[in-house]
Amino acid sequence: MNATLQSASLSRLIAELSRLPGIGDKSAERLALHLVRIPREEALALARAIEDVRANVKACSKCFNVSEQDPCAICADAARDRATVCVVEQPSDLWAIEKSGAYRGLYHVLTGRIAPVEGVGPEHLTVGRLLDRVAKDGVREVILATNPTLEGDGTALHIQQKLESRGVAVSRIARGLPSGGTLQHASRAVVADAIGGRRALAKGGA
Ligand code: ZN
Repeated sequence: MNATLQSASLSRLIAELSRLPGIGDKSAERLALHLVRIPREEALALARAIEDVRANVKACSKCFNVSEQDPCAICADAARDRATVCVVEQPSDLWAIEKSGAYRGLYHVLTGRIAPVEGVGPEHLTVGRLLDRVAKDGVREVILATNPTLEGDGTALHIQQKLESRGVAVSRIARGLPSGGTLQHASRAVVADAIGGRRALAKGGA
């Protein structure tokens, strides 16, 4: 954009916004202009929310859920079934499953999925920590709840293979989710069906 058309601070805001996922140059311009027009307090509330979240929210050292406490509230909840671990790609998938109310076990957040095209391998995810938990924490069932996309399926297959012969039951969420869809965007009922109707890939107790 022509520097004479935008002030330096506005250009900077547009540049920062355009770095966010899913925000192109046009959206960044629209959002920046919106932030200029709304009441000052409203715009600064956004800035403060970003500051607070970066100061207070971290990854849980056990499950990699985002949390203000470590371990997170789910890992710390003694009422949950500690023998079952549901593996998801992102905290937003964990939220979707929690909202469904269909699951009372623990989670493991991979922080992504294996994507060879983008150079993302299992070593970039928390797969190794998952295997540690299975080895040490008395886990009896692992539910693979990566998204039913090409990469999500590939990630589930990789973990399934890693868990073979470890004496743990492995299941994959049911196909109630539309193929290529994501947990985050599914309705609560569909997510509940996907968890409830999971199918076994490997039996535990070996
Ligand atoms: Zn946790």
